[in-house]
Amino acid sequence: MKDFNGMENQDLMQKIVSLAKRRGFVFQGSEIYGGLAGTYDYGPLGTLLKNNIKDSWLKKFVHSRTDMYLLDAAILMNQNVWKATGHVDHFSDPMVECLKCNKRFRADQLLKDLGKTGVDGMTIEQFNNKFKSGDDIICLNCKAKNWSEVRQFNMMLQTKVGASEDSAATSYLRPETAQGIFVNFKNVLDSMNPKMPFGIAQIGKAFRNEITPRDFIFRLRELEQMEIEYFVKPSEWSNHFEYWKDEIMEWMESVGLDMKKVYSVEIGDGDRAHYSARTIDFEFEYPFGQKELYGLAYRGDFDLSRHADGSGQKLQYVDQGEEGSEVFVPHVIEPSFGLDRTVLAILTSSYREDTLGEEPRVYLALNPKIAPYKIAVSPLLKNKPELVEKSKDLFGILKSEFENVVFDDNGNIGKRYRRQDEIGTPFCVVVDFESLDDDSVTVRFRDTGSQQRIKISELNSYFKEKLA
Ligand code: ATP
Repeated sequence: MKDFNGMENQDLMQKIVSLAKRRGFVFQGSEIYGGLAGTYDYGPLGTLLKNNIKDSWLKKFVHSRTDMYLLDAAILMNQNVWKATGHVDHFSDPMVECLKCNKRFRADQLLKDLGKTGVDGMTIEQFNNKFKSGDDIICLNCKAKNWSEVRQFNMMLQTKVGASEDSAATSYLRPETAQGIFVNFKNVLDSMNPKMPFGIAQIGKAFRNEITPRDFIFRLRELEQMEIEYFVKPSEWSNHFEYWKDEIMEWMESVGLDMKKVYSVEIGDGDRAHYSARTIDFEFEYPFGQKELYGLAYRGDFDLSRHADGSGQKLQYVDQGEEGSEVFVPHVIEPSFGLDRTVLAILTSSYREDTLGEEPRVYLALNPKIAPYKIAVSPLLKNKPELVEKSKDLFGILKSEFENVVFDDNGNIGKRYRRQDEIGTPFCVVVDFESLDDDSVTVRFRDTGSQQRIKISELNSYFKEKLA
């Protein structure tokens, strides 16, 4: 498969993974011990990038609004939470094992990898029939065709809480952040008195014991989600759904996703959860195929009603109107964002190769808003004390104003530019001999390599405008 800029997609993926490691964005989890499948660690630059994405999400969906409340719920929850929602019984994927090499696969993924269609929504019985009948279903590891029964594999990571070993001590690492919001619905109502409609937003870790974690940070066992539960009057859900669809698209564009690679896919009747009258998956064209990036689901009153039944508490809203009060269980629109999948989609969208000054180069065309470093400051030569001193002074000034600013005097100026290009720093500021006389510096732009002379006294307002 060819990518839009002519690169083989498999190459592109390898290049992104290698750049991510080489430049401190993403490392394999527990790497010096041989790793742990489905876990990755974010390095210094990856952490900055991730934080900038979270900040942008919080700014748009929480801080710039008056109807949104933040939450930071515990990862460990009472096991009855997951019984009430059906996760204990149903949060599973179909698993099949190759009887020759004993490798386990997610049955639906394996069929899709082998080019089979009509896989979504298949029952366990249908999977079993398919694996028994099809001698064209080969193990991707050893090429054998001898399969175990397909069975449901629960993806919740179980743990024990406290010193007791009995079943009362069972807990789960949450498989989604959403339920922390629903179980705190009453607490937020009682403490904040929100007016309808309103939302509760949360960013946090979730855990899924995926059968086959893969594709770098796309399918992880430890992942991070940014989720909103937006509570509305039941009769008004449809307009709110449309509104959230637009908001999600707007945010994706603002963080620099290549919108030509984004597809909003309406999920058909047979494939939606039974309680949802409408779901959209936002898919992204990753180098390994078009896959789910985010979800937008209308969940009706499913979660609040389940938790009301499970806990025996009233989870409802009392609307005090002019003509008396109306009591109802709010309906929910859920925009759900995977943070790790966002990082990968942004890296995919921004990876570029070109030729500059007759030299090939690699750069990340990151939106300045989310680039790990906004500005790199350098002396033209690092062995000239007067240049070093002036550039360090300037670095201090810019850092106190723009925070994510780096001082870089490694290697020669050409190498510094290449290094900053590769990590997506949009602006490099260089102090040279002229600067000593005229108090101006060179600002060099990442995407074009072009340069502009600017007075030091004007730099603050210049970058404020560029980084707004
Ligand atoms: P998939 O079909 O790819 O397994 P899902 O439909 O189970 O995903 P949701 O339960 O809707 O995913 O989770 C909400 C969001 O969390 C997803 O849109 C995705 O961005 C993210 N996400 C889910 N599972 C993973 C995972 N294993 N690794 C990384 N991100 C994930």
